[in-house]
Amino acid sequence: MSEPTSHYDAIVIGAGISGMYQLHRLRGLGLRVRVFEAGAGVGGTWYWNRYPGARFDSESWTYGYSFSDEILREWEWREHFAAQPETLAYCNFVADKLDLRRDIEFGARIAAAVYDDAATEWHVESVDGRRARARFLITAIGPLSAPTMPTIPGVDTFRGEAYHTAMWPHEPVSFAGKRVAVIGTGATGVQAITEIAKTVGHLTVFQRTPNWCAPLHNRPIDAGTQARITATYPDIFARCRDSFGCFIHQADPRKALEVSPEEREAFYEALYAEPGFGIWMGNFRDILVDPDANATITDFMRRKIRARVTDPAVAATLIPTNHGFGTRRVPLESGYYEVYNQPNVRLVDLRATPIARVTPAGVETSDREYAVDMIVYATGFDAITGAFDRIDVRGVGGRRLRDKWAGGPRTYLGIQIAGFPNLFTLVGPHNAASFCNIPRCIEQNVDWVTALIAHMRDRAHTRVEPTAEAERDWTEHVHDTGRRMLFTQVDSWMMGINSNVAGKDTRTFLVYAGGAPKYRERCDEVAAAGYAGFRFR
Ligand SMILES: Cc1cc2nc3c(=O)[nH]c(=O)nc-3n(C[C@H](O)[C@H](O)[C@H](O)COP(=O)(O)OP(=O)(O)OC[C@H]3O[C@@H](n4cnc5c(N)ncnc54)[C@H](O)[C@@H]3O)c2cc1C
Repeated sequence: MSEPTSHYDAIVIGAGISGMYQLHRLRGLGLRVRVFEAGAGVGGTWYWNRYPGARFDSESWTYGYSFSDEILREWEWREHFAAQPETLAYCNFVADKLDLRRDIEFGARIAAAVYDDAATEWHVESVDGRRARARFLITAIGPLSAPTMPTIPGVDTFRGEAYHTAMWPHEPVSFAGKRVAVIGTGATGVQAITEIAKTVGHLTVFQRTPNWCAPLHNRPIDAGTQARITATYPDIFARCRDSFGCFIHQADPRKALEVSPEEREAFYEALYAEPGFGIWMGNFRDILVDPDANATITDFMRRKIRARVTDPAVAATLIPTNHGFGTRRVPLESGYYEVYNQPNVRLVDLRATPIARVTPAGVETSDREYAVDMIVYATGFDAITGAFDRIDVRGVGGRRLRDKWAGGPRTYLGIQIAGFPNLFTLVGPHNAASFCNIPRCIEQNVDWVTALIAHMRDRAHTRVEPTAEAERDWTEHVHDTGRRMLFTQVDSWMMGINSNVAGKDTRTFLVYAGGAPKYRERCDEVAAAGYAGFRFR
């Protein structure tokens, strides 16, 4: 405890899209706010994930903030699905516009957050000993911000270049003439592999679980389209608002088996030719809940992989067998499957020959060693609860959040936790935001929390906490809503499974699967009823 303690009305942890907007809104209430951010700049996801090929799966023009006409008017996206540098530039543009940086402390990773009930205050401390306290603590620490490395022996012994995609260097990395290994074929791996394959000497892809990937169909935005987008922002955001995950794609009202096989095939072909998540979010309304409906789109996607990959054995390895289409996060791709037709690309099936260790020279599987110059770990994140687990959060009586959530998260509206007063969790577990075109849900989350804090200020309340009953009912509701979705019957990060993290081997409900409109409705009802389920003091 070296540094003196600074005092604020509110502390926000994280300066991604969530933390930036929360800072702006709390300033609007006249609060003294401090944001602590581990990185050296704003942008969160878009600050860290600089790997080749990193780009949106959301249409760019649906992803930006909607709250400021000025920002909407002045910012023009160059591509329908912007690459990471453009999105980071957007975050910096917003930070400049709103003059956010003067209240953000960069390079400050918060290690501990402890609640002092006598003072009704949160005390936070960073890894390097900076300390601060405030009445309110708001976590904006990201759903996908805690990178995980594979638990393979020998990772530190490798003598070549090694990178994790979410901790990518700020300087350019060259693949030309090099033998490169990529470990992991999730959404990030799919983007990185496609880009690296364009310039690599030789590429070896180590795949444990194949995913169902769909074409992105990205293209530049021309001046006419931009003018149309700018003129129709209210309609665009209204359409997003009404859809399950706040994407621009609305589910088709028909069921998959209601139409003839010919009509179904034609619909799937049309969706496959569409940009973005249309094939996932704009598909027949039952493909994510009815196994028979799901089987029809899964069969279609299987045939697409076979048609695009020349070697039938490689195609078979790329076809998922343990889950149906859309029941895990769908990676969007721009020529991913064709990469495996290149003579300088090899696919290694880790289900047949698991990795034994990383050696000084490369990667050793159960049957041989692959000598490489570079290893790219596209091994993803300890999703949704991971960033919480990396902070020692203690509530009333010193109770650890990690212990409270040991059997799975328990929250009220995914926003507050009994026993942790005045702590608000943006885009946390059990919140619709983690299953969303995220900024659309972030704005709702932040506006709602801001209104709750204003409500307290107007009534001179200093402490808010959900009742145990409200927390129990919401947690049960999250579980009940999840059960009807096929994705809850599959191992994935959305279900809290991560084989690279000790203890994350049992399925648990991390996301609210009732959809953003229902979630918003519920939040509005709670507020209209004087914040039912919350106890104020
Ligand atoms: C590669 C990639 C592509 C994505 N593409 C899309 C997409 O197309 N559409 C979409 O809707 N979503 C996408 N997402 C999800 C994305 O995370 C969200 O869209 C959004 O950026 C989340 O914003 P956030 O501010 O909530 O969290 P983040 O952007 O993750 O920001 C959290 C911030 O908190 C900081 N932080 C965490 N812990 C601490 C700590 N202990 N102390 C201090 N600081 C801390 C982090 O450094 C980070 O800067 C993508 C995610 C990834 C990883």
